[in-house]
Amino acid sequence: MQVNSIDLFRVAMPMKSVWRTAFSEMSDIDCVLVRLDLDGAVGWAETAPYAAPNYCGEWADGAFDVLRDWLAPALVGRKVPDSGVLQGFLKSFKGNQFAKSALDIAWWDARAKLDGKPLWQFIGGTSPKVTVGADIPVQDDSDSLIGEIAAALDAGFVRVKLKFRPGMGADTIRAVRRRFPDTVMHIDCNSGFTLDDLPLFRELDQCGLAMIEQPLGHDDLIDHANLQRELQTPICLDESIVSLDKVRKAIEIGAGRWVNLKVGRVGGLSNAIAIHDLCQHHQIPCWVGGMLESAVGQGPSLALATLPNIAYPNDIFPSARFYQQDLSEPEITLSGPSAVTAPDRPGHGFGPDPQRLEHVTIRHTRVTGETAGMQPA
Ligand code: MG
Repeated sequence: MQVNSIDLFRVAMPMKSVWRTAFSEMSDIDCVLVRLDLDGAVGWAETAPYAAPNYCGEWADGAFDVLRDWLAPALVGRKVPDSGVLQGFLKSFKGNQFAKSALDIAWWDARAKLDGKPLWQFIGGTSPKVTVGADIPVQDDSDSLIGEIAAALDAGFVRVKLKFRPGMGADTIRAVRRRFPDTVMHIDCNSGFTLDDLPLFRELDQCGLAMIEQPLGHDDLIDHANLQRELQTPICLDESIVSLDKVRKAIEIGAGRWVNLKVGRVGGLSNAIAIHDLCQHHQIPCWVGGMLESAVGQGPSLALATLPNIAYPNDIFPSARFYQQDLSEPEITLSGPSAVTAPDRPGHGFGPDPQRLEHVTIRHTRVTGETAGMQPA
């Protein structure tokens, strides 16, 4: 199986409304789409590290450049019979997990298509039906937050995740809990706090949260382990989990009791599956997160969420939640209350509509056997 060509599209997708978190306010999702030709089968991927290096050290323009100059040329013209070989070709390049993930995911999509199988079945998923939750960005006040949660529950979602940033305080969460005493909910801190905030976390520990997601530094493990020892509420690691090795160390020191798995952040589906399996072995449950991608980016997450150690409603969203019109046709829709079903189409099941892709593309390049040997200027 040979990689014949790789197309890169630098894209900015306008969202319906501004998304506010502990690290930024965004009105577009800045990402890179990859189209990979494997023995004539076309695989698609989307990687969304965002416009600026605020979520992690990568950003969309940087991902495009490193893919064009280094990562895609390392694959084009090569025989890539399995994902281990693919990861081997990328191994000498440090970091750049989001950029690498796009090649890995596109390969998996094409590979499953060559066998004519849905990706979720190809990777050993147990059932195509996946439970999903609702995410609520930072609001101006508690009343707005409570209104958003009520709307999500009315729509049938079985859990809510609240973006939480410095300044909101435990009172906000206490007010929510009083209004919704039995709702499964957690907060996502997006690495906005430090151990100096221990008194705040002790208050939050009394709020019956299912977990506290990534309270401390984006690349930290040790402080999380220290915080976890002080709390009853489980810590869920998100930003800190960038590789299998990082997960091994997190488990070893007790840095958290849940893992939010994102295919982009860990360098692709190959690594995400390996992390899922390691966590399962150590009885650390996982769930699948996202970067508010279009259906092209959410398709692989949906496949990942069908694996057996996924034990909490996932961050996989109907396309209409964030976009007037998804890049993909068909788009992602709920298949029931709080549920999305992985499609039975070959591959992950989603690809961009050509006209819609053209409309949101900022730059495009194709890496072929002829261009791959060229060194960057
Ligand atoms: Mg998170």
